Amino acid sequence: MNYSKKTINDVDVKGKKVLLRCDFNVPQDKATGAITDDKRIRAALPTIRQLLDQGAAVIACSHLGKPKGEVKPNLSLKVVAERLAELLGQEVIFAADTIGPDAQAKAAALQPGQILLLENLRFDKREEKNDPEFAKALADLAGEGGVYVSDAFGTVHRAHASTAGVAAYLPAVSGLLIQKELEIMGKALDDPKRPFVAVLGGAKVSDKIAVINNLLDKANTIIIGGGMAYTFLKAQGHGIGKSLLEADRLDYANDMVVKAAEKGVTLLLPVDHLCASDFSADADCVPAEGQDIPEGLMGMDIGPKTAEIYAAAIRDAGTVVWNGPMGVFEFDKFAGGTRAMAKALAESGAVTIVGGGDSAAAVEQLGFADKMTHISTGGGASLEFLEGKELPGVACLLDK
Ligand code: ADP
Ligand code: MG
Repeated sequence: MNYSKKTINDVDVKGKKVLLRCDFNVPQDKATGAITDDKRIRAALPTIRQLLDQGAAVIACSHLGKPKGEVKPNLSLKVVAERLAELLGQEVIFAADTIGPDAQAKAAALQPGQILLLENLRFDKREEKNDPEFAKALADLAGEGGVYVSDAFGTVHRAHASTAGVAAYLPAVSGLLIQKELEIMGKALDDPKRPFVAVLGGAKVSDKIAVINNLLDKANTIIIGGGMAYTFLKAQGHGIGKSLLEADRLDYANDMVVKAAEKGVTLLLPVDHLCASDFSADADCVPAEGQDIPEGLMGMDIGPKTAEIYAAAIRDAGTVVWNGPMGVFEFDKFAGGTRAMAKALAESGAVTIVGGGDSAAAVEQLGFADKMTHISTGGGASLEFLEGKELPGVACLLDK
């Protein structure tokens, strides 16, 4: 996959209409519909400001929630238009439809320096189907000489009309958010500063198989924690008590251990644990020394010895990619391993990248977000990136 894509710095947008795909999929209060966190809107500001400053007329669009092709008033982007206007300090014109008469009229009248936001793209079922007519109608809003700018990293792994389809009709470049994702994560995968350490955790082996496969060819060290560690330990003949087990992945886990050894990749597994007798926040925290977990207990977090060994590997790394918490960090008693990793990344001189929705949430919740080189903004998208998959929303952009 080629990560070297043209950006808004490579095109002249003066006097042109720019169709800008944003990620305005913000969390909302269920009762009132109010935006509970406007981080994603604020993240879009640099790209929007640059385009407006350079004399473009910006037609912004996004999805919000899962309306499944139906008009759902509680998922209208109107609230986003209002917040965006406050943050930008200028009027945001709102179209009550996506490619309909209101959008067409307002797009046609849009002047350089002005911004229009379309209604929720997923109100039209053709968006998620990547329907070519819908994509062309979106592109036509930008008209002759128009440009498509993609800045919604969270949806680049989906081939939808607004994330990939439109690129067939307009010259397509990335905005500043996607540019940063591609530069930092692309470099980590293609030409990492070594040693390259991958820290993999989370609940399930099956979610991370493609990531492990891809990183086995790239990393120097792979650190395994979280719920998936127990399937690896069981495959190595250890007792794992009541811990999470994917019995159908035992052979796979064994293969990975063998392959890592063949490739000269150091694969680290937990050497001690924090356990509980049941999966609950109030359960007593029972330490288990050694790799085996006693009968009747389940592994909830890596133990202190493991955290020390993992932190040491991170301390000496040139690049660290982290995907997946080391334990059930949602329960305070079992957040220690994840906190130790976040701290180790924060204190390391390495390029540090956090990908994955829960990992990013954990790093933020634990207060280490500003200490990381990069926290990927796309959960599913960053996972597919680490899998080495071709992302339709990236592949469709013009090569540098
Ligand atoms: P990401 O979203 O960063 O890719 P995942 O979704 O793969 O991460 O995994 C996150 C989830 O894994 C968390 O909800 C966490 O509670 C869970 N988890 C971590 N360790 C364990 C464990 N030992 N047992 C059960 N669940 C775990
Ligand atoms: Mg997750």
